[in-house]
Amino acid sequence: MSSAKSALVDVAPVYIDTTRASIARVYDAFLNGKDNYEIDREVFRRVQRVAPEAALLARDNREFLIRVTRFIAGQTGITQYLDCGSGLPTAENTHQVARRIQPESRVVYIDIDPVVLAHGRALLEDNEDTHFVAADIFRPEEVIENAQVLGYLELDEPIALFQLGTLHHYDGERCPADIMRCYIEALPSGSYVAISHFFDPETPEQSELARRLEEAFVRSSLGTGRFRTRAEIEAMFAGLDLIEPGITRCAEWWPDGPRIRPLDPVQHCIVGGVARKP
Ligand code: SAM
Repeated sequence: MSSAKSALVDVAPVYIDTTRASIARVYDAFLNGKDNYEIDREVFRRVQRVAPEAALLARDNREFLIRVTRFIAGQTGITQYLDCGSGLPTAENTHQVARRIQPESRVVYIDIDPVVLAHGRALLEDNEDTHFVAADIFRPEEVIENAQVLGYLELDEPIALFQLGTLHHYDGERCPADIMRCYIEALPSGSYVAISHFFDPETPEQSELARRLEEAFVRSSLGTGRFRTRAEIEAMFAGLDLIEPGITRCAEWWPDGPRIRPLDPVQHCIVGGVARKP
């Protein structure tokens, strides 16, 4: 048995509420993974009824994560990552992408979903520089003062902070830009921030699709999934210098090659950006 598999066997049983969809399991269903339940797949099907190619929302987001990690590892000199809302382990995780380029990279994953925590601890903590911390990413004050985070990362040296596919699921009282401001203030100069987010393109046709997608997500048993405007997403990067090409469709942020096929309409509804703290 591989060490990863034997680690899985050792994981204590966790309570899983299978009557409610979970963000991590729904995302896994969108990515054609195996760690999801019927209640999660129902959300996926509901969104597919609005946009048959809805899986591209997740795929574009994940490929953006991989390209951003390659960029940071290859070009910025940063070797510390705080990956907020890691999701379930999948084919290419942040630490694997970063450590291929910078073998000394340290990654701290944060999540709150019990299934992610169990699988993550078993499969993502596969070396002494990769760690999993249970915390609420929408309470930045607690994350940046978390003893484990402070133990694993040096927050007086530049880090890469990822909020990928997370903030559109925040449905609390606080403004998401305010959550990000709190993180950004705590980062040292030279740090990088990457955000991806469901997007309302504010053109008549694409806005209508974004609104229908949002309704499908919010009215499902998941209950969250906001499609925010450019101004709302720009506000999350306040105080930072956006790296070219700025906030753009995830599929179009430094793609691996030229685009031959036009974007599917749904691909206009997720954007990402990377910025540096001056
Ligand atoms: N960042 C990954 C990516 O882009 O591929 C995964 C994105 S997944 C859509 C969002 C993740 O955020 C899920 O794993 C979910 O459990 C996690 N999440 C949602 N709310 C959270 C919270 N309040 N605290 C910590 N993690 C949270």
